[in-house]
Formats: sequence, C-alpha cells, structure tokens
Amino acid sequence: MQEVPDLIACEGCDALYERPRLRPREAAHCPRCGTLMERGWGRAHERMLPLTVACLILFAIANLFPIVEIQLQGLSSETTLVGAVVQLTHGGVSEVALLVLATTILFPLAQLCILFYLLVSITTRGVRPAGFNILVRAMQVLRPWGMIEVFLLGVLVAIVKLSGMARVIPGAALWAFMVLTVLLTAVLAFEPKAFWRIVFAREQAREDQTRP
Ligand SMILES: [Zn+2]
Repeated sequence: MQEVPDLIACEGCDALYERPRLRPREAAHCPRCGTLMERGWGRAHERMLPLTVACLILFAIANLFPIVEIQLQGLSSETTLVGAVVQLTHGGVSEVALLVLATTILFPLAQLCILFYLLVSITTRGVRPAGFNILVRAMQVLRPWGMIEVFLLGVLVAIVKLSGMARVIPGAALWAFMVLTVLLTAVLAFEPKAFWRIVFAREQAREDQTRP
C-alpha cells in the first residue's frame, strides 16, 4: 500500500504543509499568512469526557431549578429559564425569546450531547461511531453559536428583559449557570476537527498492529 503523506492545508491561503508534530499547548501558524493552522492537544481529549459529563449535569441543574420569580397581576411564581422564556413569548417578544432559547439552551445542549456521544464511542471502543462525519460537521456549524459570549448574552438578555417583572433567585440554578459558563469555555474550545486526528491515529495504530 502506498504511504499517504499527512498534509495540512492553511485555511487562510490554501498552502499545503506536512503536518507538524506538536506538543500540548504548542500551536502551528502558516509561515506565509500567519493563520493558526493547528494546536497541539496532546491527550486533552481524555479530559474532555469528564468535563462534558460535568457540563451536562450542571446544565440540568441550571435548567430544572427555578432561576427567576415572576410577579404577574399580584401573583408571584418561581420559574426556570425555559419557563421564563415561555412567559416572554406570551408577552409578545418572541424574537428575543427565541434568541434566548437557542443561545442558552438549544445550541449548547446539542453540542454537549454530540460531544458526549462522540467521546464515549471513541474513548471506550476506539471506533468511529455511526454518523461520525455528519456529527463532526454539525459541531463545526454550531461552534460559532456555542461561544461563551453568545451564551452569556442570551442569559443577560433574559435577565434584563425580565428584570421589570421578575427577580433573579440566587439559588442552585444561578450557581450552576455561573460554573457552567467557566466549564463551557474549556469544553467548547475543543476543536471538532481534532476528532478526525484522534480517530485517524487510532485506526493507523490498529493497522500497524495487524500488519505482519
Ligand atoms: Zn496561510
């Protein structure tokens, strides 16, 4: 079998280079245009699974416990972020409600679930799970929306919009959101394209083992 050279293309100017061997925390920039081409992750993906699980638990706490107390027509009720978003929709601010829903719940949850699924299959069985290609591409599409600034903006918009008629409860949900913000920064910094490299390295190692 002919050896395929391990090449990498610069996203900035399309120049091809041989893939550099990077140590953890090292980064390779294109010598021609300076675009960041690759980061050395080392074995970082092994830390990703526990972090992702922690994020999913915090996510559940943040969204299942009440975060605001809403006063409407003399009645006060405690509600979760989703509950608050639903109230916003009834109040006729549906664009804001949709934005908050997508940036604080849908996009991060979708990303965490995909990450969890991919990491579990790769770390436990060392194989490409079903739908690998589509899921890695989906993560790349979702990535700009999963940025922590967008997440924070969503939470802030919700709180500011609700502040007229609501009081933020300093309880479990609020603390979970705060810790989640920090953990999400670490988890979402992981580049989805690194999955290809992990899987490719494993498959090559297995091929080398079976070769006489
Ligand atoms: Zn370049």
